[in-house]
Amino acid sequence: MLGWQAMNHADLDQLLILQEKDVRISKLRKELASLPEQRTRLLKQMEAIKQKALAAKQEVAGIEKSIRDVEAAVETKRAYIGKMKTLQSNTRKNEEYQMCIQEVEKTEAAIDSLETSELELMERLETAKTDMEQKIRRARDAQRELEETLARFDRTAETDKELLNRLNAERADLAAAVPENSLGEYERMTRSKGVPVIVPMDEKGHCGGCHMVITDNARMKVLGGHETVYCDSCHRILH
Ligand SMILES: [Zn+2]
Repeated sequence: MLGWQAMNHADLDQLLILQEKDVRISKLRKELASLPEQRTRLLKQMEAIKQKALAAKQEVAGIEKSIRDVEAAVETKRAYIGKMKTLQSNTRKNEEYQMCIQEVEKTEAAIDSLETSELELMERLETAKTDMEQKIRRARDAQRELEETLARFDRTAETDKELLNRLNAERADLAAAVPENSLGEYERMTRSKGVPVIVPMDEKGHCGGCHMVITDNARMKVLGGHETVYCDSCHRILH
């Protein structure tokens, strides 16, 4: 004895209505299940944007520190020049006098080069500040967008859950009215294939589930409309 029984053709209309609910239920469940993943992805994107803004801030702080260092070095060198000039005017030794002149010249050249590098740093600072402001603005906008999107996800989840409860209740009422054998077969099929399992045959004679060509014999039976016909390829029910 086969445990399997072809579905009663008379029950197909009822099953199609049931299937319509099941398709909606399945879609809603998928949407609900995808929300946490989408949320995680958006949070990761936000983190990357924040990191970029942070890196830009650090870049600005780094350049500002370099400028302060250069300025401190210039100060030190100026103080040294002052000392050399004092020594120069007080000394009576020619050798020391010459040494002071050389030291002053050498140190002034060093100050020149420090000041040149300070100018370069100032230019870099301008660019870095513009870049930082852009990235901070971008992070602020992205944060606001993210909050709106997450709030929308919460609302979607809430309405989806309510709708799902309602559809499940309607589904239970519909299922209760379908004869047991046909319902059992339909549910067995949906468990193994997912919805839909009752699919239309298109005008060219293809299965609406797997899109393979339906045999002439099966096609005639579908058009006859008196018996349950299964697709030879995917074993879904054709109507
Ligand atoms: Zn098929």
